[in-house]
Amino acid sequence: MTGRIYLDHAATTPLSDEAQAAMLPWLKDGFGNPSSLHSEGRKAKDAIDRAREILSDKLGCLFAEVLFTSGGTEAANLAIIGAALMNQGGTRNRILLGASEHHCVINTADTLRALGYLVEFLPVDRDARVELNALEEALDETVLLVSCMHANNELGTINPVRQIANMAHKVGALLHTDAVQTFCAPGQNWKAADLDADLITVSAHKLYGPKGAGAIYIRAGIKLKPLLAGGGQEREMRGGTENVAAIAGFGEAVRQSPTNSVPHSNPRDVFVTDLLSHGAAQTVSSWDNVLTTHAHFRFPGIDAETMLIVLDRLGLSASSGAACSSGSIEPSHVLLAAGYTQEESRQGLRFSFGRSSTHEVATKAASIVVEALQQIRSAGSRLRTPN
Ligand code: PLP
Repeated sequence: MTGRIYLDHAATTPLSDEAQAAMLPWLKDGFGNPSSLHSEGRKAKDAIDRAREILSDKLGCLFAEVLFTSGGTEAANLAIIGAALMNQGGTRNRILLGASEHHCVINTADTLRALGYLVEFLPVDRDARVELNALEEALDETVLLVSCMHANNELGTINPVRQIANMAHKVGALLHTDAVQTFCAPGQNWKAADLDADLITVSAHKLYGPKGAGAIYIRAGIKLKPLLAGGGQEREMRGGTENVAAIAGFGEAVRQSPTNSVPHSNPRDVFVTDLLSHGAAQTVSSWDNVLTTHAHFRFPGIDAETMLIVLDRLGLSASSGAACSSGSIEPSHVLLAAGYTQEESRQGLRFSFGRSSTHEVATKAASIVVEALQQIRSAGSRLRTPN
């Protein structure tokens, strides 16, 4: 096996050939504005409608319940802030956000507070799943919305969203779920009705579609205020001329996504078994109800940044949940929320598998990680040896 190994599919995936082919016509000859009434415009509008049809089929929802956005971030902002704007000044003045949500949810808090809402972060357990007892206690008739992600992007652990939706609905609150990591993921054949969420947000570039396209499912009857004022596109919910090519590519990527197929012997499991047999790594979450594509490890005594640099030099791309800002690595907010110390929260590494991750890739990747550990340990002991 030659070439680099890419195990960062949870960050983004390569564009599939089929999605690329679906995009090309709309980048040049099919340049019409979908809002125009002439043939060029109508053709572009048809391309968007085809994509909407595919997404609504996949979600098992109405055509009109799917709106396109510029990605998962915008979709989550529209879900949460759009609901907050719509209900501003009402008796429901509290919004509950899971403490291990993606930053596109966590960072809505300032805007929500500026709109007059009380924002509360729901505690999560050691696997970064929302604590249901704490949710139960926090829920009452003053809660407007709960936001709880389907699967955590760092750990891959899955929340019981349907149960959470039922709890929220009992007190009349809305439930938003960020399903970016699970939509079209292997073994994830859910429909909107299975989650029972009112608002579901997804993104194209995690499923072999283009970057810059996402979508929101809005259950019929629920009203949000648009974040982008404009020409009334997307049923007056999102102003701005649509990114026709990206939406067409998104639709095709969803159409091509396998309806099931978690391989009988999953390469992720081969990687995990190989790595654990070396005893140098610790798994972070339990393996129960976790996406079959994610493996999260901590390498005690070694910070994620050092590991990532050495792995990259050895030809393996992985990632840490820790954000890098102004040259210094920040601890992962997910691991911190799950109760890890500051130091431990700097040691988490995510390996995420995709279509190119064969058994051979998994075995090679595990040997590269072991090699990286040996290099770091021997460099450390050389540094400690007195001259
Ligand atoms: N939510 C989750 C769980 C994600 O993993 C990501 C991407 O990293 C996003 C939201 C943001 O999606 P996008 O990059 O399309 O804005």
